[in-house]
Amino acid sequence: MLIGHYAAAFAARRAAPALPLPLCFAACQLVDLFWGVLVLLGIEKLRIIPGFTASNGLDLYFMPYTHGLPAALTWSVGAAVLTWYFFPARTGRARVAVVIGLVVASHWLLDLLVHVPDLPLWFDGEKAGLGWWNYRVPALLLELALLWGALLACLGVMAEKRIRCLLLAGAMSAIQVMSLVAQPDQPVTMVMELLATHVALIGAAYWADRRASQRRMMPLAG
Ligand SMILES: [Zn+2]
Repeated sequence: MLIGHYAAAFAARRAAPALPLPLCFAACQLVDLFWGVLVLLGIEKLRIIPGFTASNGLDLYFMPYTHGLPAALTWSVGAAVLTWYFFPARTGRARVAVVIGLVVASHWLLDLLVHVPDLPLWFDGEKAGLGWWNYRVPALLLELALLWGALLACLGVMAEKRIRCLLLAGAMSAIQVMSLVAQPDQPVTMVMELLATHVALIGAAYWADRRASQRRMMPLAG
């Protein structure tokens, strides 16, 4: 899954408005960010086989440290603990920590919908995946519906940032469509493109949310 993951980020922003949107964006793709790094280090592995699924050629045959169920739970708890530790106490950090933990965990559950059985339930043993990637149009519509559904539900807490959030979601939708049209045939190129996309979207989330962030910081500075 690509942009559908960001539904969890917008849902988190609605559940805990004190959370900066860029942090929510990083949390929802935390698992994939580390996956990209581990692939580049040669620790986790993939092949690209054209036509492997109707949506892409990703044969993700070894990724227990990021997309294994125990690993995903560990990432989620770790993210929640770090958020609790570093978030200012006055902003209700128990709530934001739980929300961030759930956002990180949502990555595995949303991947479960679209991946073919490549998500390890225990290290590199039994694997799960419901395989919506084998249905090109329904998989695309699922990603768009998740993103736009969560965004529209979140607009109420975005105040004057609504236009920028709508523009951001429009760009993300274009990225999703483009990912179906043009896919790299080399794993390293694929991973570098994905990492660049995720990092760029975190930056775009900062742009979309920036005035709200500044307002949150002013009382702390004063
Ligand atoms: Zn993933």
